[in-house]
Amino acid sequence: MVTAQAVINLPALVANYQYLKKYCDNRPLIAVVKGEAYGHGVVEVSAALSMADMLAVARIEEAVEIREAGITTPILLLEGCYCDEDLHIAAKYDFQVVIHHQFQVDQFKSLNLPKAIKVWLKLDTGMHRIGIHPNEAESVIQTIEKSTNLDGTLNYLSHFSCADELDSDVTVNQIKTFRKITQQRSGLKSIANSAGILFWPDSHFDMARTGIALYGVSPAENYSGKELGLTAVMTIKSRLIAIRQHEANEPVGYGQIWHSHEATKIGVIAFGYGDGYPRLAPEGTPIWLNGRLVPIVGRVSMDMITVDLGSDCDDQIGDEVELWGSRLPIEVVAKAIGTIPYELTIKLTKRVVRQYISI
Ligand SMILES: *Cc1c(COP(=O)(O)O)cnc(C)c1O
Repeated sequence: MVTAQAVINLPALVANYQYLKKYCDNRPLIAVVKGEAYGHGVVEVSAALSMADMLAVARIEEAVEIREAGITTPILLLEGCYCDEDLHIAAKYDFQVVIHHQFQVDQFKSLNLPKAIKVWLKLDTGMHRIGIHPNEAESVIQTIEKSTNLDGTLNYLSHFSCADELDSDVTVNQIKTFRKITQQRSGLKSIANSAGILFWPDSHFDMARTGIALYGVSPAENYSGKELGLTAVMTIKSRLIAIRQHEANEPVGYGQIWHSHEATKIGVIAFGYGDGYPRLAPEGTPIWLNGRLVPIVGRVSMDMITVDLGSDCDDQIGDEVELWGSRLPIEVVAKAIGTIPYELTIKLTKRVVRQYISI
């Protein structure tokens, strides 16, 4: 019997892609599948998104894995290449690359690639992490455009730092800066992430990039994916593997950090930090069981989580629990733990059996 499993709803993934694309007036939409498609499985997700205009990943190894699986959708390397060999691989597999730093400009112009490649220039409009400074854009653009390694027109992208903060003017200013640098130039322009798509219509430009929303999750706190018209793609299930009678004042688990006030029943769930559930999840973090939410008590251990079932429960060993997903929104769980949904899905370990609902 499989205990810990991640059910991945591929029809919901496709529906979310199509919904988000409509949100952008049916303009081309990039599906971000970095980090094993946010923990959902990069090959399965990329294959299911056969209608996607483009896929995007962070590392070249991720892109090679997608191509080797026989998927021919255009792929963008969000941080580009770091050595000559990577650029040759990009040319061979037809990857589109980002250039975000002067060293990548120098590398690009010094090489003689067997085949020209498509390039996106990353501009720093306020994130101040990677990207070319607006003052340096002009000279960098000229250098890249002169290179015979460039296929077609240079494209432009940038990234938001605060698009999930709906009352911040940072995003408005980033859009302004991006527009100022790029408006006189041909080539595609892209700045919106999921929060941009859903909350900042002025940010859509030619092509938006969706990661978290594609998986049915809200990019902003205080909303659920459902409220935004999305459907949860991942549901994490496991089972009760023990139920024990617990007396008043008895502790439970490592460090004995929790003691019962009164007699109750403790349920033990087959899931733990060895599956990717945060060890620091505090007392009270909810888990769905038989139509209600039960609170975590005691410390999350590697393979098990303990919950307070209440003294008059009629749960049975083997009953299914949901740690997050279609019945318990991941946004609620992330908030209780003090993290964001991205971290929960991406940290799931290999031990959690992936089960795909096919399209
Ligand atoms: C990860 C990433 C995205 C997707 O962000 P979401 O918030 O998940 O939609 C978009 N663009 C870049 C450059 C990224 O690194």
